[in-house]
Amino acid sequence: MTTESHPDISHQSPWRLLGRALLLRCPNCGGRGLFHGFFKMKERCPNCGMLLERGESDYFIGAYTLNLIAVETLLAGVFLVVVVVTWPNPPWNALQYGGVALSIAGAVLCYPFAKTTWLAVDLIFRPPHREDFITRVK
Ligand SMILES: [Zn+2]
Repeated sequence: MTTESHPDISHQSPWRLLGRALLLRCPNCGGRGLFHGFFKMKERCPNCGMLLERGESDYFIGAYTLNLIAVETLLAGVFLVVVVVTWPNPPWNALQYGGVALSIAGAVLCYPFAKTTWLAVDLIFRPPHREDFITRVK
């Protein structure tokens, strides 16, 4: 794979990068099919060939952090809405057990979105360069 076949390594709008990521598409090109199944991200974008884990072993710690923030925000929002709507008698037991279930389900369901979103955040601060598209010789 040569860099000439992937000329689009210029800076892109952060909103475009994040929008593509939230649709589970490649933030760089908008291509689909970044995952093997639901959890495992491919090594490269099948459309533009960009390296998805950009060369660092602990790259997706940021994705885990984003996932945690998203799930906690979701949990706080649902908790607040339920308490406000049912006040003065909120269903405390349902909130307790529902909160645990929502935390687990949210962490699982948000995981792929957190991975693509973290990739987009990384591309905002470190735009793709030629090495992200060159296939390593093994
Ligand atoms: Zn791509």
